[in-house]
Amino acid sequence: MVHCPECETTLDDADDIEFVETDAKTGFIRASKRFYTANCAACGRTLGSGVAGAKSNAGAA
Ligand SMILES: [Zn+2]
Repeated sequence: MVHCPECETTLDDADDIEFVETDAKTGFIRASKRFYTANCAACGRTLGSGVAGAKSNAGAA
């Protein structure tokens, strides 16, 4: 189980995490892939980030 390091909300549901897609507008990513951050839905702290580009079958039911 994951807790937000900022507000210590328990992040055990998808609703507790807010995924924010960002385009490469900021310039630190030059590829055309989408970049996203996972933020705490309660306080907005960025918990993680990644690139939503290539699909992975890992974890697919
Ligand atoms: Zn939080």
